[in-house]
Order: sequence, then structure tokens, then C-alpha cells
Amino acid sequence: IIPPRLTLKSTLTQNSQNTQVYYATQFNQLPISRRTLFALTDNSYQYLTAIQKKALPLALRGNDVLGAARTGSGKTLTFLIPILELLWRLEWTHWDGLGALIISPTRELAMQIFQVLRKVGKNHSLSAGLVIGGTDFEEERERIGRMNILIATPGRLLQHMDQSTDFDCSRLQILVLDEADQILDMGFERTIDAILRNLPKQRQTLLFSATQTRSVQALARLSLKEPEYVAVYERN
Ligand code: ADP
Ligand code: MG
Repeated sequence: IIPPRLTLKSTLTQNSQNTQVYYATQFNQLPISRRTLFALTDNSYQYLTAIQKKALPLALRGNDVLGAARTGSGKTLTFLIPILELLWRLEWTHWDGLGALIISPTRELAMQIFQVLRKVGKNHSLSAGLVIGGTDFEEERERIGRMNILIATPGRLLQHMDQSTDFDCSRLQILVLDEADQILDMGFERTIDAILRNLPKQRQTLLFSATQTRSVQALARLSLKEPEYVAVYERN
């Protein structure tokens, strides 16, 4: 296991001349839309977790982020909020097509992310869908062409990229690779490589992983641009 190269502190010092980073302990101190904030409040989210404190300001600023934190640390909101805010700022509508893509290792995790997105995204008028297989391919194909945010498992996503001519990701703004170590452990490395080749290079990318193995570092080099490294190691 390779330790992260930079702690947030050194990252911030390095960037302090030209950029401003918000420090927030509560969601209402973040530069986010009222739509998102009200949904967070409705779901009783008030204080940021450690990973959210470190990564949210950077992700909201548009940086690529490589985040390491254990399961249960609150990584889902760390990428869903930046997605909602980016598309909100771009005034993304139904007609703009796919703006955000979240890749998750398993159906179960994808469905969990979808449930959280439904809660925190409820005041936004964006469409979101799952691409996880288990349903009729044709039906899924018909549906995903109309989605602004997709949550997908790697195999099924690549199948759509290869076979669905109307699957258009040319306007993608933000990519999330969640549980990257698990994605790689499950043998999806080449699938992810192929997916990345189909995505526009100009985009924001957030990569989360519980551990930072060599293969995660390699994927980070392939997918991220000048990433900020953010890690939270709790003492138990
Ligand atoms: P991870 O993806 O890091 O494993 P999750 O995003 O699934 O973690 O979050 C784990 C749990 O913590 C969930 O039940 C979630 O609702 C809760 N949670 C996340 N962020 C906060 C927060 N800021 N305040 C309170 N609970 C939170
Ligand atoms: Mg998670």
C-alpha cells in the first residue's frame, strides 16, 4: 500500500497563492445551491464528515480528487454534491444529455448511490438512472438515452457504449469512480480502460477508494489530471 503523496494541508499551502478553498464544518457554510442545501437539511445532514471536509471544497472548486477513506466515512455525498452543483451551475437541462457518470463495482452499491441521489437531488430537475444490468437491455438502452446522471456497473456500461448507437457521452462533464480498489479487484481493469477511452478528455474526475494500492495509483494516473490527494485515516 502506497501512502498518499500529499496531505491536504500541504496541498492547500501549495495552492494558496492563486486559489481559495472554503473551509466548512457544516453544509450551510459550503458554496452550494439552496436546492441542494435544503435537501441535505431535510435529510438531517448538518455537519460534514472528515472526508467531506477535506474533499468537498476541492471537488466543488472543480479539481480532480483522489480520495481515500474507509467504508462508512461519507464518500457518497462527497461526489453527489459536486455533481449536482456542477450541473446546476451549467444550467444543465433534460435536453443536454449525459452530464455525469458514476461507476460503481456492484449493483447493490449502485442502487445505494441512486437512493442517496434521489434524496439529495430531489429539488433539482435532473434525470438520473441506473445501468446495472438485470433488466432488459433494450429497455435499458431506451431509458439511458434520456438521462443526465447515470450510475453504472462497468460491464453493463461498456456493453451500452459498444452496442447502443444512441448512447452519447460526448458532453460528459464529470466522472466518478467509486470504490476503485474494489472495481479493480473484481477484474474490471480493462473494462475501465475501454470506458475511459470512450469518454471526453476534458472533464472533472473524482476517484474514491478505501485503499491506495499500486493498481489504484495506476488507474489514478490514467483517469485524473493533476489530482488533489485527500486521505482520512481514523484512529480506532
Ligand atoms: P462510504 O461511501 O464512505 O462507505 P456512505 O457515503 O455510504 O459512506 O455513508 C455512510 C453513512 O453515513 C450513510 O448512512 C450516510 O447517510 C451517513 N452520512 C454520510 N455523510 C453524513 C453526514 N455529513 N452527516 C451524517 N451522516 C452522514
Ligand atoms: Mg461508498
